Amino acid sequence: MKNLQTLITAGGFALASGGLAIPAKAADFGPANPFYAPSRLPFQAPPFDKLKDSDYQPAIEAGMAEELREMDAISRNPAAPTFENTLVAMEKTGRLLGRALAAFDAVSEADTNPTLQAAKTELAPKLAAHEDEIYLNAKLFNRVETVFQKRESLHLDPESMRLVEVVYDRFVHAGAKLSDADKVRLKQLNEEASALSDAFTNKLLDATKQGAYETSDPSLLAGLSEAQIAAAAAAAKGRGVPGYVIALQNTTQQPALSQLTDRAARAALFQNSWLRAERGDLNDTRATLARLAQLRAQRAALLGFASHAAWKLEDQMAKTPEAALQFMDALVPLATAKSASEAAGIQALIDAQKGGFTLQAWDWDFYAGQVRKAKYDIDQNEVKPYFELDNVLENGVFHAAHLLYGISFKERRDIPVYQADVRVFEVDDVSGKPLALFYGDYFKRDNKNGGAWMSQFVGQSKLLKTLPVVYNVANLPKPAPGQPALISFNDVITMFHEFGHALHGMFSNVEYPSLSGTSTARDFVEFPSQFNEHWAMYPSVFNHYARHHVSGEPMPAALAEKIMRAKNFNEGYALTELLAAAELDMQWHVLPADAPLQDPDAFEKQALAKTHLDIAAVPPRYRSSYFSHIWGGGYSAGYYAYLWTQMLADDGYQWFDDHGGLTRANGDRFRQMVLSRGNTQELGKMYSDWRGAAPTVDAMMKYRGLRPE
Ligand SMILES: [Zn+2]
Repeated sequence: MKNLQTLITAGGFALASGGLAIPAKAADFGPANPFYAPSRLPFQAPPFDKLKDSDYQPAIEAGMAEELREMDAISRNPAAPTFENTLVAMEKTGRLLGRALAAFDAVSEADTNPTLQAAKTELAPKLAAHEDEIYLNAKLFNRVETVFQKRESLHLDPESMRLVEVVYDRFVHAGAKLSDADKVRLKQLNEEASALSDAFTNKLLDATKQGAYETSDPSLLAGLSEAQIAAAAAAAKGRGVPGYVIALQNTTQQPALSQLTDRAARAALFQNSWLRAERGDLNDTRATLARLAQLRAQRAALLGFASHAAWKLEDQMAKTPEAALQFMDALVPLATAKSASEAAGIQALIDAQKGGFTLQAWDWDFYAGQVRKAKYDIDQNEVKPYFELDNVLENGVFHAAHLLYGISFKERRDIPVYQADVRVFEVDDVSGKPLALFYGDYFKRDNKNGGAWMSQFVGQSKLLKTLPVVYNVANLPKPAPGQPALISFNDVITMFHEFGHALHGMFSNVEYPSLSGTSTARDFVEFPSQFNEHWAMYPSVFNHYARHHVSGEPMPAALAEKIMRAKNFNEGYALTELLAAAELDMQWHVLPADAPLQDPDAFEKQALAKTHLDIAAVPPRYRSSYFSHIWGGGYSAGYYAYLWTQMLADDGYQWFDDHGGLTRANGDRFRQMVLSRGNTQELGKMYSDWRGAAPTVDAMMKYRGLRPE
C-alpha cells in the first residue's frame, strides 16, 4: 500500500494538518460545491458524478480553515481540560477536510490531469503548514498534556487510554515541546520537505512516461505475444507516435524483459528504466532527493533525534533503526547466497546456449524464465488463461474472504466512480448487515501512479457513525477492447495483497477515527495484506478461481502443482532486490544532520557496497532516483517494513496452519483480535495476544524456501 500515511486522512484530525489564516480561494467555496455537505450517497460515498476538477482545491482549503476554527475553539474552551472536551472533541474535527482530501488523493494519484497536478503542487505546502498549525498549537498541546498527565485517574476504557497516549506522542513527535523560535524553523523545514516530495512525484510521473521504450522496428519486439505487440502499437497510437511503445512500470525490472529475445532491445529497455530519472533534464530527480534527505536529517536534529530514521521509528514496532538494520543484516547472507546460486544456474544455461556473455540485470528474467521452464515446465502463456481478472476477483479474492469471515459481495452499479473502469461492491456482514463499500481500480493508465495501493474515501468510526468506504488500485495491463484481462500469478498475489489491506479497513470496529483501520504503524500495516496473500495458494481457494476463461475448466492438477512447486523459484532474487531497496532507504535516512549534500549515484553505490548488496545482476527493486515510496510517499525509513511484516504474515499463517487452516472459527478469531482493532492496542501485544507468542523468522524462512536444502 502506497502513501498510507498521507492518504489515510479521512475522519478525525489525526494526519491532517492548520494553516494559513484565510484560504486564498475560500470565497469559491459554497453550497454549489459538492463537498459543502456530507455526501448523501450510501455510505457517504464521494459524489464523483457531480465533482469537477475545480471543486477539490477550494473545498480542501475551506476544510483546513474549518478545522483550524474547530481546533481553536477547543484550545480556548474556558472549562478545564477533560478527555471529552479535548480528545473526543478533536476527533470530531476536520470532517470537510477529510472528505475532500480523501477524494482528491484518490483522483490525483489514480486518474490525474494537469488541473489536479497543479492543485496538488499548490496544496502540498499548505497541508504541511496546516498540520504544523495544529501540532504546534501550544494551548491545544497544554490541554492534551494535562489530560495525559492525569490519565491514570480518569478511569478511561482501554481504547480511550490508547487515544490519549497516541495523540500526546504525536504532538511531542511533531515538535510541540520546542521553543517558539524552533517551532518557526520546524514549520519552514516541513513546508520545504513537502514541496520537494511533491516535486519528486511530479518529475517521476513524467520521467516514467517519457522513459517508455519506443521503436518502429517490430523485429526488436520478438518474443512478445501478438496481443502484446498489438497493445504496444495501440499505446504508440494513443501517444501519437509511430511504431510501438512499451510503457515503464515503476520497478527496476520490466515485465517485457522476461520475453524479449533481442538482447540489445532488453538492454535498451532496462537502461530506459534504470536511467529514467537521471537524464539531466527537468525530470531528473537527483538534486530533489539529495536535498530532501539532507533536510529530513536537519529536521530530525531539531526534534532531538540522531537521524530521520531514529525519529520515524520511535513509534514503530521495531522502535529503532538499529533493530531494523539488524533484522535486515541477518537476512542478507541467506538472500544473497540464494540469489548467487540462482545466478549460477542462469549462467550455466547461457553458457550451454553458447551465449558468450556474462549475465546482466536485463538478462535475468529472460533466462530465469527458461530455467523455470526447464525446471518446472511452466509457460506464463499457458498459465494466464486460467487467471481472468474479474474471475480472480470474485471467485478468488472475495471467495476466500467469504470462507474465512462469512462476508458477501454484491456489485453496486448505482455508485458513481471517478473513472469508467472502476467497479464498486457492497460488502455485507455474516448477519446480512451492510459492512462497507469496496472499489476496485485495476488497470494501468498513463495518468495513474505506478504500483498498487489501498486507501479509503471514508474511515470507520463508531463516534462519527461512519462505515468504511475503501478502494484498491493496481496497474494490471488493460486488454484490447473485447479481450479478457488475463493476468499472471504474481498479479493474482497483488490482488490478494491489496485486498488484505482492504479487509483491515473494512473490518475496523473502533470508536475513534485516529485509531481506525489501517492507521497503524508502517511495520504492522503490511501484515494483514501479506498474510492475505497466503490464501491465493490455499488449495480450496485456488481450485475455485483458477479456471480457464473460455472453457471454465479448472486448471489441470499437474499445472497447478507446478505453480505451487515453483512459487519459491527466483526467491533469492526477489528477496535480495527488496533488501537492497530497504537498505538504500535506511542508509539515506540514518545520515546525520551535518552530513554534506550527497551525490545520489555515489551514495547509492557506497551504501549497497557497505551492506554487501552491490550485485550488478541483482539491482535494487527501486533505485534512489525513482524510489517513490520513500521520497514521494509515506515510507521513508520504512521500506524494511515490507520484510518485517512478511515475518509477521508468515508467522501468523503458521498459526492458521497449526490450527486447522482455513476455517470460519480461525478467521473470526483473527478478525476479532487483530483485523477489527486498528491501532487501539500496542501492536506487539495485539500480535502476541492473538498468536500466543512473539513472532520469529522461522516460518518466513520456510515459506520462502531460504533454509539450506
Ligand atoms: Zn501493501
